[in-house]
Amino acid sequence: MSMSDDCFLRSELLSSHGAIGIFSSRHGGISPPPFDSLNLGSGLGDDEGNVAHNLNILTSAASLPRTPHRAIQVHGAGVLVCRNSGDQHQDQADILIGVDGAAIAVRVADCVPVLLADPEAGVIAAVHAGWRGTVAQATIHAVKAMVRHGAKPEQIFACIGPCIGPCCFEIDTNTANNLSRCCDGAHRFIHHVDNETYADLAGINARQLRCAGITQAHIERISECTCCDEQRFYSWRRDGKMAGRHLAVVALPDAS
Ligand SMILES: [Zn+2]
Repeated sequence: MSMSDDCFLRSELLSSHGAIGIFSSRHGGISPPPFDSLNLGSGLGDDEGNVAHNLNILTSAASLPRTPHRAIQVHGAGVLVCRNSGDQHQDQADILIGVDGAAIAVRVADCVPVLLADPEAGVIAAVHAGWRGTVAQATIHAVKAMVRHGAKPEQIFACIGPCIGPCCFEIDTNTANNLSRCCDGAHRFIHHVDNETYADLAGINARQLRCAGITQAHIERISECTCCDEQRFYSWRRDGKMAGRHLAVVALPDAS
């Protein structure tokens, strides 16, 4: 495995249907500890020059057609529509919709990144869904926003990336109640061990994709736990304020 392969995981499903979907790991960047090494989050204490350089490393390693758009994330279900070449926006949004060849990205460290593409319609989406975004049905709203821009649910492919797993995501009773009611069948992804309650956030987001009309065969899950694998991933639950950030990026290659 080359260093460039190591700095991200690729969605095979999106890849095989003509889209680019990648999830950065913490490898291959230049940030020193505790942000070692491919930190893609600004304002955390890492040098901003390092973060900008890391983004260039990822863009080049993953052969992204252009720099991805990014927004200010607020754990909601707001939508930002992006076109053409990307930048860091000052708009607040946890759902980015890409049209006209845009590349789009969300930042995560434990939260669920969901990447969607309708290559036929030329519409893509990136979703940042922690437990609050999951309760707000961000993933369902993303599919609806794609449809408003010409996508068809039956043509959409989705990949759920690395996030905190049901092994590590312990939640309180209030969060469990909110999550179990957030979509049809969500309660099946809450489990109890002794007196503790755990949620499978990726499982609930997969349910939301089904609720939004995406067929099971069009949903891929990369079931790696960010909290368990310290060597490979940043984790807010594990590292708190010292946690770097990953980027999940989706794009459509330029027509040739
Ligand atoms: Zn875990």
